Amino acid sequence: MNTQRLFYEDAYMTEFEANIEEIISDDTGIWIRLNRTAFYPEGGGQPCDTGLICAKEYFSYDGECPRDSVQVTDVQERDGEIWHRVEMFHGLGENGVDEEIHPESLKAKGLTHQATVIGKIDEHRRLDLMQQHSGEHMVSGLIHRTYGYDNVGFHLSMDTMTLDLSGDLSWEELMDIERAVNRLIRKNLPVNIYYPTSEELKEIDYRSKKELSGEVRIVEVSGADTCACCGLHVSRTGEIGAVKMLSMQKWKNGVRIFMCCGERAENYARMLQEQNRKISVTLSAKPEETADAVVRVSAELSKVKFELTGWKYRMFDAIAAANAGKDQVILFEEDLYMEDIRHLTDKLMKTCAGYCMVFSGDEENGYRYAVGKRGGDVRPLVKAMNEALSGRGGGKTELSQGTVRAGKAQVEAWVSEIGV
Ligand SMILES: [Zn+2]
Repeated sequence: MNTQRLFYEDAYMTEFEANIEEIISDDTGIWIRLNRTAFYPEGGGQPCDTGLICAKEYFSYDGECPRDSVQVTDVQERDGEIWHRVEMFHGLGENGVDEEIHPESLKAKGLTHQATVIGKIDEHRRLDLMQQHSGEHMVSGLIHRTYGYDNVGFHLSMDTMTLDLSGDLSWEELMDIERAVNRLIRKNLPVNIYYPTSEELKEIDYRSKKELSGEVRIVEVSGADTCACCGLHVSRTGEIGAVKMLSMQKWKNGVRIFMCCGERAENYARMLQEQNRKISVTLSAKPEETADAVVRVSAELSKVKFELTGWKYRMFDAIAAANAGKDQVILFEEDLYMEDIRHLTDKLMKTCAGYCMVFSGDEENGYRYAVGKRGGDVRPLVKAMNEALSGRGGGKTELSQGTVRAGKAQVEAWVSEIGV
């Protein structure tokens, strides 16, 4: 006898009464089978429901009852039967630790074979999933009607929804679909679900991912889409709220669309607004003009970087000229990046014959350095310096770089000690 599927009788049922038929324990946990259930099992691209199961004798209708119940964390269908994986609610054991779950601890909560229980579905999660799934049907249906492409892959999780199309769409075309679907949503069209006979089915033009046999469940959004589907749906399109396309990428011979519906679309709009608000405040631009402001700032930044590089090079040339003809040179310069340190050392090597050493950093964090010698081998010196000054780094024969964990005085003392 298969589990009675209450979710197909009423997709809005969030509380139901049932009897425990079987409790099993395997390496994935403890699973309960009921004679009937409103918990939708994972399938058809839709994640399962979660919620709680409580013995009827302990159930309180006027509030939550986690202490007396177990939480349903996974629901799976096997051979026509629906199994609920149950866990203890977190932190309700002695001293706030999790109670261990095993058939004995279930017994203490009245959850035994043939016990009458109340199942409670997480309504918010379920409505969210129905909104996403119904919205996806409308988008797939309209794309199919407009461009003839098929939905060849559907993935829905608690934070993303993707659909894969058999053909290519441009972003503008997708935006047209979004607008059209949202208009249909606002018409609050009925969503009809029915099981046609095989004769009736022959007359119906419906979308389907695979060749179907046996009873076919048709989900029809009046005037927008007809599709074979075993998932759960809202009863009128208005409940979807809105559809928002997020992004699109090439996928096999078509595209993969990332989209969201309902409260997720609202949350997405709020997130974008917050991002834009921060940019608007930082750049003192009106919220509807932030893109232009970012382009302007980015262009200014490029110009400043270009000018700064020019000034740096002139400064490095001047330093090199001031040290021209010297044998050894050791310099401490403020606030230079590694790249600049190397660049300055390189310039010095052209005018000085001996070791050219450039350091930049501070007393607290140590110094970055580059050491070079035209036509020489600086590696032994760098190795000795790293050992003496807790440094690290290396490089090529003529020019090496690294960092030392030492102050300026220590560096200078070491240099004069070895007498380079
Ligand atoms: Zn579906």
